[in-house]
Amino acid sequence: MAQTEILLVTPPLTQLNAPYPATTQLLAYLKQNGVGASQYDLSIDLADAVFSKSFLVEVLGELKSSKNHFAVNKNLYIDLVDPVKAFLRGKNPTLSHRICSRQLLPEGSRFSQIEDLEWWFGSLGKSDMARYLATLFLLDISDFIRENVCQHFGVTKYAERISLSLPQFTQLGKELSKESNPVDLLMISLLKAKLEIFKPKVVGFTVPFPGNLYAALRCGKFIKEHYPEIKAIIGGGFVSTELRMLNDPSIFDYIDFIILDDGELPLLSLMQYVNDRRTPLLRTFIKDHEEVRLLNNLPDTVIAKDLPAPDYTGIDVDKYLSLMELPNPMHSLWSNGFWNKIQLARGCYWAKCAFCDTSLPYISSYNPSDVLQLIESMQAIIAQTGQTGFHFVDEAAPPALLRNLSKEIIKRRLTVTWWTNIRFEKNFTYELCQLMAEAGCIAVTGGIEVASNRLLNLMNKGVTVEQAALTCKNFQDATIMVHAYLMYGFPSETEQETIDSLEIVRQFFKVDLIQSGFWHRYAMTCHSPTGLSPQNYGVKRVTLKPNPFANNEVPFIESVNCNHDRLGKGLEKSIYNFMQGIGIDAHVSSWFDFKVALPSIPPNYIAKTIGIKKGR
Ligand code: SF4
Repeated sequence: MAQTEILLVTPPLTQLNAPYPATTQLLAYLKQNGVGASQYDLSIDLADAVFSKSFLVEVLGELKSSKNHFAVNKNLYIDLVDPVKAFLRGKNPTLSHRICSRQLLPEGSRFSQIEDLEWWFGSLGKSDMARYLATLFLLDISDFIRENVCQHFGVTKYAERISLSLPQFTQLGKELSKESNPVDLLMISLLKAKLEIFKPKVVGFTVPFPGNLYAALRCGKFIKEHYPEIKAIIGGGFVSTELRMLNDPSIFDYIDFIILDDGELPLLSLMQYVNDRRTPLLRTFIKDHEEVRLLNNLPDTVIAKDLPAPDYTGIDVDKYLSLMELPNPMHSLWSNGFWNKIQLARGCYWAKCAFCDTSLPYISSYNPSDVLQLIESMQAIIAQTGQTGFHFVDEAAPPALLRNLSKEIIKRRLTVTWWTNIRFEKNFTYELCQLMAEAGCIAVTGGIEVASNRLLNLMNKGVTVEQAALTCKNFQDATIMVHAYLMYGFPSETEQETIDSLEIVRQFFKVDLIQSGFWHRYAMTCHSPTGLSPQNYGVKRVTLKPNPFANNEVPFIESVNCNHDRLGKGLEKSIYNFMQGIGIDAHVSSWFDFKVALPSIPPNYIAKTIGIKKGR
């Protein structure tokens, strides 16, 4: 093994079913360029250590109270956590019979969400039913840990709440100055063990989400205190989106460098700099005489075609847990199954949606990979992980590239299963959807956003409600499942438009055009067309002055009188039920505790649009 100069770490917590893709891509690039690099998924190791007999003995052992569910059932939790984990890793399949009997697992508050198991899973779906029940068991444990041991703990995020909107560093700094809690200590002990093995010069933490920042900085603090010779870096999605206008140097008490955008070139130059201080750093924030400086903020020059296949060396596939948080086959793709992750293209080929960060390189710098190279990369990954499922983690997979890739997969008789994110555009014809299905595509996700033609046009989505319906039908006819990203509260959106949008979504479910969905509350971000030119959307930003720390969401003054926050609860309730096949025939107003506008869309509008007489 080459000596590790840099250890790439995914800090807790991300999804538990597969590693976050940043370190695999960076590892491959750095190795290709002669850097001794290794990777470590601290996130899955921490989850493994928390959901373990030894940790539960520590945190549940002393519990005494005949009224507390965990005190009463502590021995069951302690004895069952490891077998249940093995089941969720596919190692202990026969346990499903006992789990489904509902006599084995202690049932805490999460089990109260169970609707009709038999309706969902029938008599044959025991394995999925058991996976769902086993997931609720872990979620109960996670609730206990959050309430009693570490307030930051969630199954797939760590201390997300304190990093969600951070105009200043003070609040996070305060949290980091507190004594470590038992989960922090566990995380640090896992990191320390790896530092002792690899002895790196540099540790690079990827921070894709707000829920990874606290852990990265807690680890950075430990490194600074105990291994001052090691340099610590952060980069990744959250950093590149929110910290671009950073001018508060406090964060440098925890790390040494912050890099922006795709990390390949900045990391390469940083590794050269570590060995020779004359090497210029690239797109890197440093602290210089108590001030923050961004060095050489030049555009990326590594195009997708020049990237090697992601490298899974150091990833222990057997550790990942396949969860099922909702009994919905489309929804469960995010947490169930080890999906190899690879990008077909960098950036978005459309890059025009008004709510999206289109001014940032991760969206605006579009360049696709070569199909033959992609196939070779897929084969190389399969050889490493032994898994044939792929999640193409694109912003929006281009139809032409999907066509060529599908043809090549079929030509080479490659048996793979895959899903990806798309735009509901007209190029997804029935024939293309069929080809994709034949090549192993089982699902797509895409934005229907606000299902209103006026707003789709205003936000420059490039599709209409009718087009989206026809495209979804093509996918359904090809047996490809569809998940819809939905939005409410876009500038100038009225209550009538939100209710109409919900009615359209109801009809999409009614005629089986989509299997799952999620309502996002629109947020104006400073890098989006709406944030950059709010006047074009009839609204005003409250302030244009950047914050000293994170800058992303910006407050704005609406032009219409509509309380969207009030509508949010009903929208969430509706989609949660639709995904379980409940309430699809109910009037949309029934999801709200107050009087709302009546929908102006005829009840069979979508059925007629796609040419069927009525829904299911
Ligand atoms: S929302 Fe999606 S399709 Fe639209 S610009 Fe952003 S990445 Fe592209």
